[in-house]
Amino acid sequence: MVDFQKTRDAFDLPEGIVYLDGNSLGPLPRAATARVSALLRDEWGQRLIRGWNEAGWMAQPGRTGDRIACLIGAAPDTVTVGDTLSIRLHQALHAALQAAPDRREVLTCSGNFPSDLYIAEGLLRTLDKGHTLRVVPPQEVAATLSDQTAVLMLTEVDYRTGRLHDMARLTRAAHNLGAVTVWDLAHSAGALPVDLRGTNADFAVGCTYKYLNGGPGAPAFLYVRPDRAEQVSPALPGWLGHAAPFEFEPSYRPAPGISRMRIGTPPVIALAALETALDIFDDVAMSDIRARSITLSERFIAGADALGLQLMSPRDPARRGSQVSIAHPEGYAMMQALISRGVIGDFRAPDLMRFGFAPLYNTEADIDTALAHLSDVVLNRLWDNPAYSVRQAVT
Ligand SMILES: *Cc1c(COP(=O)(O)O)cnc(C)c1O
Repeated sequence: MVDFQKTRDAFDLPEGIVYLDGNSLGPLPRAATARVSALLRDEWGQRLIRGWNEAGWMAQPGRTGDRIACLIGAAPDTVTVGDTLSIRLHQALHAALQAAPDRREVLTCSGNFPSDLYIAEGLLRTLDKGHTLRVVPPQEVAATLSDQTAVLMLTEVDYRTGRLHDMARLTRAAHNLGAVTVWDLAHSAGALPVDLRGTNADFAVGCTYKYLNGGPGAPAFLYVRPDRAEQVSPALPGWLGHAAPFEFEPSYRPAPGISRMRIGTPPVIALAALETALDIFDDVAMSDIRARSITLSERFIAGADALGLQLMSPRDPARRGSQVSIAHPEGYAMMQALISRGVIGDFRAPDLMRFGFAPLYNTEADIDTALAHLSDVVLNRLWDNPAYSVRQAVT
């Protein structure tokens, strides 16, 4: 029996708040405050530059990478951490295109996150080799794959609807046609079991500030299948991905394996916070997190159904990530009304309210409280308050 009370206690959640936005930004791990303070005071403060050697700062990207690897079904020494997800996607897509030199089509779906689409467009334009980005509706991806596809680039869980792609099946189909795969696990890592080894995915990326709870601006991760890693000539060959960074050679030579995908100086303070967040996963299996996520989201959906709300997420939990989206013309103002009552979710234009479920800290009582407020907002039209219609910069 997994002790989810213990994991909940590991977070510093504000009193009276029901937090259903871990799909955007996970909450603060209690241990992060002390760990980051100690790093600032004792490591940076006292060791100064010696911290790189004495406090293990230089090894952090691989060390945290190995811990994330455990959560996404990857082997040790296949994941590195640092930089942002947008940059990691650029690196991964570039490397994937190298692995399919005779083809010119990158296939993705319209449910993908805009940054992924923009980065892909920008990279293809920079390469200037006649590549095209083909964007099809999610349900048409499998049928559109062909022997023209160079790279299948998908985000496993749709950030709007929570729709879950079948990673195993699509990866197999892509490989059968000679295509290379890039999976974005932004809404998967820490939310549901991922089996990179089992699916034989080629490249994967993800962020650590959503379900992994690494904090605002926490660094991203990049996975490269070991046989692919040795073939990659990195798009961003930085000095810390060099075979011998402190030889300061004039030309780049790739480090072995995944290390070549490191770019520059690691974000030491952010990685220390992330490590405390990863500690919380130590006592829990991803399969237990998934089972409880389904329990919580089914409970929420039953309540939303009873209010006559329009579910935009797949009804079958097996086809859904760890979030539930509801469409409503007054969605923005409704979410503001909920937030003012201490139930925090978020909103995605034009009309989607998103509720994320993170079993490490969410409980059945959270769901019931959220539903009670949602019911009040719906039945009493509480969105009819001009204050709730003022759009903030971050929704
Ligand atoms: C959250 C998210 C991003 C954000 O990228 P950053 O570079 O971290 O800002 C990108 N892609 C997907 C699929 C996401 O869900």
